[in-house]
Amino acid sequence: MKPQPSGREKLRSLPSMDLLLSIPELEPYFSSLGRETVKSVLSEALKVTREKIMLGEDTVPSPEAVFTLAFPELNAKKKGSLRQVVNATGVVVHTNLGRSCLAREAIDAVTSVSRSYSTLEYDLSEGRRGHRTDHVEWLIRAITGAESGLAVNNNAGAVLLMLAALCSGKEVIVSRGELVEIGGSFRIPEIMAFSGAKLVEVGATNRTHLKDYRNAITGETAAVLKVHPSNFRMEGFTSSVPREELAMLAREREILFLEDLGSGTIIDLSSFGLKGEPTVSDCIRQGVDVVTFSGDKMLGGPQIGCIAGKSEIIKKLRTFPLLRALRVDKMTLAAFEATLRLYLSERFLDIPTLSMLGVKADDLRNRALSLSAQLKETLPEASISVVEVEDAVGGGAFPAETLPGWGVTVSMEALGSAGNILALLRECTVPVIAGARENMTVLHVRTLIQGDEDIICSAFRSIAAGR
Ligand SMILES: *Cc1c(COP(=O)(O)O)cnc(C)c1O
Repeated sequence: MKPQPSGREKLRSLPSMDLLLSIPELEPYFSSLGRETVKSVLSEALKVTREKIMLGEDTVPSPEAVFTLAFPELNAKKKGSLRQVVNATGVVVHTNLGRSCLAREAIDAVTSVSRSYSTLEYDLSEGRRGHRTDHVEWLIRAITGAESGLAVNNNAGAVLLMLAALCSGKEVIVSRGELVEIGGSFRIPEIMAFSGAKLVEVGATNRTHLKDYRNAITGETAAVLKVHPSNFRMEGFTSSVPREELAMLAREREILFLEDLGSGTIIDLSSFGLKGEPTVSDCIRQGVDVVTFSGDKMLGGPQIGCIAGKSEIIKKLRTFPLLRALRVDKMTLAAFEATLRLYLSERFLDIPTLSMLGVKADDLRNRALSLSAQLKETLPEASISVVEVEDAVGGGAFPAETLPGWGVTVSMEALGSAGNILALLRECTVPVIAGARENMTVLHVRTLIQGDEDIICSAFRSIAAGR
């Protein structure tokens, strides 16, 4: 038997950086990542290999051993991080997958204002400085019926601005049934503390009455705040106070009536089978002074926090210094303006979020049938069927309702378990995020956008070829 090389010998025979850098396989990485990045990944891999040798682990000090460590990292860096995926989960407003897909018009508007200079803060008629949210102020008014409107970075920012500007140092009354936590660590008590307002909780978790609010009002009270329970629903012995009654109480006692509506539906969605959510204009009509909601949930636009309400109050928000820290970028404003214009012209189904929610069951079934036919051609050995599935609105809207949908199940002996297939699909050039049931991959068709079927087929083709 040949004697094993000692650790010292192994260390001495580790490849040099120059040798590593000279292999031709690195060429594509040099061109996309630059030489310095490639070098730093290789040097980290060299270091790990050296440490393994020193710990006496069974490692060969070859260039291959170093590349085996370096390539996954190089590939991950080369692919990019924030990139396109296919949403085959059936969850329409999927926060982890970027919430809403933008309408064609919104994408065009983003391109146009970002490739050239724009009127972002410029008043063309006067030839001088304008205000960036004036572009959408009149549109917010038009689609919500409010006296005035304002847009900030996101709804969390809108709630913070509203509380800080209007209630700091004073008390704000909230029902215990509405002290909710929303995904991503948004909690009303914490936002309240941060704004400098003092939270006064009233009622019980399941029931809050008008007299609870009335008894809590003192000389220190600035507002009553209503919060959408978002991602959770209470059932059974529950009650809350109608907006009209809270509005009347607030008026009587000269305090404000504010609402965080969360998802913020703009149009009545009962024709889509989605009932029971108030629209923003319902809130305004029922007497809320200021209502805040997200731009990228049910509205179907970019990430924005939209504020609608009484003009004298919005005026205070517009001049409050915190607004500067929450101001909206031009690309976002362009997308928001274009999306609101689609509401104005009642082209609701040109907004992807709304068309995904409103699509007819028959259309979903046909789409599933055609995807299954395409997949059967791609994967002749797989077992593929069209099935009924349950989809969801997501984004904290309509949490108790599932949307009846259609999907395609795929299973294939050679590709292993559903979990294994899902993992392989996530590694594809355009990753596909799907669901699973009874050890089969399930592709929900509701959330597919145009062209996704082809991407799904090439994903399956590439993973089947890899086996
Ligand atoms: C989603 C939501 C928020 C947070 O909105 P972002 O746009 O994510 O900042 C706040 N309040 C409620 C009730 C929500 O549903």
